Amino acid sequence: MPFPYPPRPFQQQLMESVQHCLRYGKHLVMQAATGSGKTIGVLYPAVRYAKQNGMRILYVTRTNSQQRQAIRELQAMQEDITAVGFQGRTNMCLLAEENPDFRTGSAGEISRLCSTRKKRTIRALRGEGKLKNGCPYFASFYRLSELPAAITGEKILSAEEVVQRCRDKHLCPYEVNKQLVKKATVVIAPYVYLFDAALREKLVEWGFTSFDRSILVVDEAHNLPQYCRDILSPRLSVYMLTMAMEETREYLEDNEEIMTFCTLMRDLIDELKRDYIVRVEEGTDTDGFIPPGKLAAAVRRCGWGRADIERFSQRFLEYGELILEAKEKRDILPRSYIRGVGRFLSDWVNLDERWAKLVVDESGDNPRLEYYCLDASIAAAIVNEFHASVHMSGTLTPLEEYRDSLALRSPELRTFPSLFPKKNRKIIYDPTVSTRYQNLNDQMLARLEERILALCTATRHNMAVFFSSYAMLNRFLTRGLRLAVDRPIYVEQQGMRQRKLMQDIESFKKKGGIFFSVIGGRISEGMDFPSQQLEMVVIVGIPYPPPTARQQALRAYYDRKFGSGWRYAVEAPTTRKMLQAVGRLIREESDRGMAVILDERAARFKKYVEVEEAEDVVQAVKDFWRE
Ligand code: SF4
Repeated sequence: MPFPYPPRPFQQQLMESVQHCLRYGKHLVMQAATGSGKTIGVLYPAVRYAKQNGMRILYVTRTNSQQRQAIRELQAMQEDITAVGFQGRTNMCLLAEENPDFRTGSAGEISRLCSTRKKRTIRALRGEGKLKNGCPYFASFYRLSELPAAITGEKILSAEEVVQRCRDKHLCPYEVNKQLVKKATVVIAPYVYLFDAALREKLVEWGFTSFDRSILVVDEAHNLPQYCRDILSPRLSVYMLTMAMEETREYLEDNEEIMTFCTLMRDLIDELKRDYIVRVEEGTDTDGFIPPGKLAAAVRRCGWGRADIERFSQRFLEYGELILEAKEKRDILPRSYIRGVGRFLSDWVNLDERWAKLVVDESGDNPRLEYYCLDASIAAAIVNEFHASVHMSGTLTPLEEYRDSLALRSPELRTFPSLFPKKNRKIIYDPTVSTRYQNLNDQMLARLEERILALCTATRHNMAVFFSSYAMLNRFLTRGLRLAVDRPIYVEQQGMRQRKLMQDIESFKKKGGIFFSVIGGRISEGMDFPSQQLEMVVIVGIPYPPPTARQQALRAYYDRKFGSGWRYAVEAPTTRKMLQAVGRLIREESDRGMAVILDERAARFKKYVEVEEAEDVVQAVKDFWRE
């Protein structure tokens, strides 16, 4: 089939790079700007190569909207292939959808619930008992001799389309999806199905039996290093321990051993929070290092050693299993906090120096122990098993950091320039201001405030002002920023509900005004503002990660591993956050937009962000729009 769109500049080179990597079984790490047509530019050669060589494609995404985009491009290609979007049971289970208790379940809990319901249903359908508390959607699926034409008639289906069609037919979408996935040439799935070792087994069930016969595509790849760290970072919170004690009262007759252990752990976490979470500067009082040997010493004080922790872990897992069974009998969500404690303990005794031991308390009322995984390459190791992989994003710079963090084996690194006329976008910075902690005195705050205000009134174009943290945003709001601006103002508050945020965004797009938000949040990453919906971005301060214990541990780890913690742990994520925020401006060829960075340290990022110094940023903004 011919390429479905008129080719865009650089798209041919992009496709040739993909073809080259597929032919030689290599990894390709590439940055290609918004609007470059990278999704189709990757899928088109990948599908052809897969078909010619009897391979399959696994396309992993972080969000559901990315899944839909890939499906749309596959449909546009009109190739004779099958493709399907896949999501976990939390999005696909119709039984959970109609039960408010089940709806709150995690992926693991719904999986457990589903497995029990299916067993009961099969037993009843075989005449081995009455159908009580089974799953009607599974029962209809089980009775099928083949999938209905309403589902198989379409060769390329998104996960949402599968759910809709199954709802109409009273069938379980997850089971149907599994059947479709087994036969599909292209499977589009969330990251977790590849990077979580337990869920990866599902991929094997679906025919990815040898990854060396498959092609991997990672969409919005700039998220992957952090995702890989988070997925391997076990946590034990005071809330979990409190709930584990409640479970013990309800199901295990106040088992003394569990109650004693949970009480001691809870006291220990509170003590660690008191002793080690300290405020060095703004944003650093959310976590602290636990000194080496401290946990072991605390456990020894109670007369326990490593063997006891292993024994506890085993015991907690067994008790947890009993509780899950009891809950299943009562037909409530199979959730066990005791089991969660047991899983944490089994990790506790097995992790090494690639994990930092932290006490963390972000909300202020639920401190936790966390073993923070410092090395993204552990979870990402599976990527090297694929025949070839393509990692794409509009903001992947610096590519070397991505390659090294994930330990990709000799990848090709490519950057494809923006297609949009350069004159349509300008990024400037103000060399006279800074949010550097040491400089942030009253005088500097007043100067920053004056600049923000002047920029807010310099044009009537829709503007987003991104602060480096909610604390910084609130600091300026309490100084009266909101009252001083004579245009509609919208503020993204910390913890704001998605629904309310979306309502405000819609209103902002339609009526115009200024949106105050934080960088690295829901607005600066992932939201689309085409045309005149957003034409000015102001970034207040450089969005360096605050020097929390987690951040220091990461930096020290990369110092040891690559000799440059700053580059890997600070420069790379900061660059990507700025590029993401600036990237909101130009979504289409005719868009114009300007970004102003209010911090002299922006000069350090000239290598990655096309930023120019401006003596008078307000005048520069007026000049840009006058042109
Ligand atoms: S069989 Fe399907 S609908 Fe029934 S519980 Fe499992 S996932 Fe949910």
